[in-house]
Amino acid sequence: MQIKALAGEKPSGANLSAGAAQSLLLFGVTGDLAQRMLLPSLFALHCEGLLQPDLTIIGTARSALETAAFRQDTAEALRRFMPGYAPPQADLDSFLARLSYVPVDVTEAESFGALASAIKGSEDRGLAIFLSTAPSLFASAISGLEAAGLAHGSARLALEKPLGNDLGSSREINEAVLAAFPEERTFRIDHYLGKETVQNLLALRFGNCLFEPLWTAAAIDHVQITVSETVGLEGRGGFYDETGALRDMVQNHMLQLLALVAMEPPAQFDATAVRDEKVKVLRSLRPIDRETVVSHSVLGQYGAGAVDGQPVKGYEEDLGRRSETETFVALKAHVDNWRWKGVPFYLRTGKCLPVRQSEILVQFKPVPHSIFGDRGGELAANKLVIRLQPDEYIRLLVMVKEPGLDRSIRLREVPLDLSLSDAFANQRKRIAYERLLLDLINGDPTLFVRRDEVEAQWDWIDAIRDGWAYHGLKPKPYVAGSWGPSAAIALTERDGVSWND
Ligand code: NAP
Repeated sequence: MQIKALAGEKPSGANLSAGAAQSLLLFGVTGDLAQRMLLPSLFALHCEGLLQPDLTIIGTARSALETAAFRQDTAEALRRFMPGYAPPQADLDSFLARLSYVPVDVTEAESFGALASAIKGSEDRGLAIFLSTAPSLFASAISGLEAAGLAHGSARLALEKPLGNDLGSSREINEAVLAAFPEERTFRIDHYLGKETVQNLLALRFGNCLFEPLWTAAAIDHVQITVSETVGLEGRGGFYDETGALRDMVQNHMLQLLALVAMEPPAQFDATAVRDEKVKVLRSLRPIDRETVVSHSVLGQYGAGAVDGQPVKGYEEDLGRRSETETFVALKAHVDNWRWKGVPFYLRTGKCLPVRQSEILVQFKPVPHSIFGDRGGELAANKLVIRLQPDEYIRLLVMVKEPGLDRSIRLREVPLDLSLSDAFANQRKRIAYERLLLDLINGDPTLFVRRDEVEAQWDWIDAIRDGWAYHGLKPKPYVAGSWGPSAAIALTERDGVSWND
């Protein structure tokens, strides 16, 4: 993570929300996500004056820690995971002073008593709870909270993915949550929605009149969404082998991106309007089912190869056993509505691919006729590239005239760069969880996923998995460091489309 030292003034108190919770309870605070993302995000928010002065942060996990040791561990985590960040020591001290720690084993109901005493009065003060633990612990955590009187009307609950592994198990989790937290106080996290560029997609589409008239099947040929990772299992073998690329990446992040690209303009930027429009898209996805799964999906598993010049073991060798789990998936999807009639959405994600990048490409149609003739060169159709990571930019590829005095005009494709890092060079790059934690504390669910969205996502994913099982489809091998099995290239080439590698 690259973070520059903070520059400029802290925001005034006017930026702080009146309805903000005054206690934040972080379950799983000794875990990887909390140490790498959540505590650094909270620290950055604190340093910018975006947290209420009286917000207290209570960390909990099973480990028997005293508050002093927890503060020390947190300071160490901040040093480790925010290497370039250098706020004044006073900011670190005042942040650590907000923290306390209460050990709780969520499977033991009686251990919630200490938590209830530590967060006394939260009914009046407001309580935000973040469950950063394995989903198998959600049900016991929620019933423990309820029994301890912490699931009251001023408490809201944030949940990390994965929310189930199919529609049935997702419904079970949602029902268990609903028993204690009504939908309006349930905040399902998809951290992609916290990314600046993802929110910028909405700004680009709905804050400018240039794009929206062209944002239809009349002008758009197809859309590509790629989320590629260079890493392999990284020690997460047990979890990943049960999950696979389709459920780990497509079910959540990629379908959320697709929904934001494809949705109709919401009447306003609020939780109901935005999520109503997204869920309409998710419900309009044409099922990839037993009939179409063979022609519309490709699954792969990496074998030995090299990534970034370094040798990489094959998936099964890394895992230590035989496996039929897909580490790569490519799909051809359609949104069956007026706007998107006949426009394919190609999705692709995988592990041990040549580069790490998350990107949306909107490929426009070519001009109907070239006035420049053969000597003008090939007229490439316009492309809009929205890069989410590792760098964040929006780039429009347009045709311009090459400089020169030739009698015929020669054209060349040039990026019209809407680089966010240049336009906002004095702003530090934020962690996606900063936005989400702030919204959780302030009680704004717009950038969180509603239950009907998650269930529509699972419904679509389950049909694909059913199709794979029905046809006995197994992942095709690909060499680590390549762009997946050759069938993934054929998936688009059949339509005369190339992936934007
Ligand atoms: P992790 O490193 O395994 O941490 C799990 C946390 O849960 C630890 O703090 C652990 O504390 C605590 N815990 C385990 N059993 C407990 C119990 N019985 N009672 C109370 N606390 C218990 O997991 P993680 O990687 O941070 O992931 C947390 C959640 O976020 C998971 O749902 C994961 O799928 C999701 N997620 C993680 C990432 C990521 O980048 N890590 C990304 C996306 C989603 P003790 O060891 O002290 O018990």
